[in-house]
Parts: sequence; C-alpha cells; structure tokens
Amino acid sequence: MSLYYDLHTHTHHSDGLLCPRDLVREAHASGIGGIALTDHDVTSGLEEASESAQELGLELIPGVEVSVTWGGQTIHIVGVRIDPAHPGLQAGLVWLQAVRHERAEAMGARLSRCGIEGVYQGVLRQSHGVIVGRTHFARYLVEHGFAKDIRQAFTRYLRKGGSGYVATKWASLGEAVGWIRAASGVAVIAHPARYGLTSGALRRLIEEFKEAGGEGIEVVSGSHNAEEVERFADLSLAHGLLASAGSDYHGPGETRTAVGRLQSLPARCTPVWSLWASS
Ligand code: AMP
Ligand code: MN
Ligand code: MN
Ligand code: MN
Repeated sequence: MSLYYDLHTHTHHSDGLLCPRDLVREAHASGIGGIALTDHDVTSGLEEASESAQELGLELIPGVEVSVTWGGQTIHIVGVRIDPAHPGLQAGLVWLQAVRHERAEAMGARLSRCGIEGVYQGVLRQSHGVIVGRTHFARYLVEHGFAKDIRQAFTRYLRKGGSGYVATKWASLGEAVGWIRAASGVAVIAHPARYGLTSGALRRLIEEFKEAGGEGIEVVSGSHNAEEVERFADLSLAHGLLASAGSDYHGPGETRTAVGRLQSLPARCTPVWSLWASS
C-alpha cells in the first residue's frame, strides 16, 4: 500500500466538531495511512488522538495550525511532526490562546451593541477546549436564528468588515515558523489559495517563510479546486517547497472534504512525508 497522509484536521479542542477519538475513527475508516491533528493554536487533543490511533493502527502525526499576521492579514502556518511538549512552542501557543480570549470578549461586546446579547458566555459554554474561535460564534449565531448558516454568519458578522469583527494581531511569520522548528516540526503554509494574495505578495510570503526555515506548502487542500492544486504544485516546484495535502476537516457537514478523502498530490510534487516515510 502506498502511504498517503491527511496533514490538516481539527477536533473540538479548537473549532472542529468531533472529539479526537471520533476524528481518528473516521480517518481510519477512510483507509488513509495517517493523519496530522492540527488544531488552531492548541495541542491539547493530541494525547487522546495518539491513544486512539495506536489502538486502531493509524499513524498519528502531532501537529498544530498557528495563527499568523503577515502583511496586515491573517495567514495560517501548519506545523507537523512537532514535539508538543516543547516549552518555547507551548509558551507561544499559550500567548495566542490569551489573544483569542481577549478577541472573543471584544467580539461579544461588539455584537451586544448590535442587539445580540450573551454571545460571549454562550460561546464559552460551547467551546470544549481552551480555544475560542470565530467558528464557535458562527455556530451560536446560526443556532439562535441570527444567520441561516455558518457561511452567512461569517459574511454578516464575522469576516473583516462584519459587525462583530475585531482585528487581531497574531504571531509573526518568523515567530510561528521558529516555534515549529524549535519543536522539531516541519512548517507548512496552509491553504494558500484562501488569502487572495497577488502573485507578487505570494512570492514575498514564500521567500520570507523559507528564510524563516519553512519547508512546505499545501498543494492539495479541502479548500483548493483542481486548478488551484495544479497552480500550487507548480509553485511548490518553482520555490523548492515540499508539497502537503490536508482536508482541513472540521467535522461532518462543515467541510466539503471529509477526513482522509483527498485527491492525490500531482506526481511531480515531492510530498512532505518523504521526510519520514518511504513509499
Ligand atoms: P479564527 O481563527 O477564530 O479567526 O477562525 C478562523 C476559522 O473560521 C477558520 O479556520 C475556519 O474554520 C472558519 N472560517 C473562516 N472563514 C469562514 C467562512 N467564510 N465560512 C465558514 N468558516 C469560515
Ligand atoms: Mn477552523
Ligand atoms: Mn486555516
Ligand atoms: Mn485548519
């Protein structure tokens, strides 16, 4: 069997819906060789995920998705094969968790000025882990009839320009890549098509990322169409980056791509997992 990985997934330790055990079960049922659990700015789901994966014979790769502010916008950097116990990485994540809580409180205040009361408290009750994210707000707004679906909750309230939006300064690109590398991990630019960057800005991002020690980019992603897969395959080759594949699965019904059900990387790419797996 040729090894294939899904290197980008979430659980309810951040803004996913499933507990780590259920995520691992679903991944195993998909027939994939291994997954990375990459919750936003937190690693608390990894222990349960590793235990479940071991029981089922699935390879579980410890990961994290770090929130970064670069060029005035939010960029996500995935770290795979990290040592989650690394103190420098954890110090960085603890700081981002605090930033998230401050932002959530400010978002709650903004929404209450629009007549939507009690969101912050409601969101805290619903988030299972230490992470509060906009997806928790979106689910609350849908459940309470302020939006018909998650997408509309983002458009109306939560995306830049929305009435509940609060601008946030996350980690710098250098910090995020530095924490991941210090923790022996491989840094990967997540879902590059999602940022709406011009080709010049994308080139600058990749140059700075590589200078900081970043090594990979998602070529196959749950949020990439077939054309974007080809485009980022070319880009990975042009810049000497390893190619990653990740569903960005958040749970049943919330993402187009289910865990493990990914299209193949184009054959010309060198997969990130060539660093540790022999095919
Ligand atoms: P945060 O990191 O808390 O700002 O939230 C970002 C998360 O919100 C992403 O990881 C996605 O899970 C989700 N998200 C962002 N934009 C949208 C959107 N337009 N529709 C649905 N989910 C979104
Ligand atoms: Mn998310
Ligand atoms: Mn992301
Ligand atoms: Mn993600």
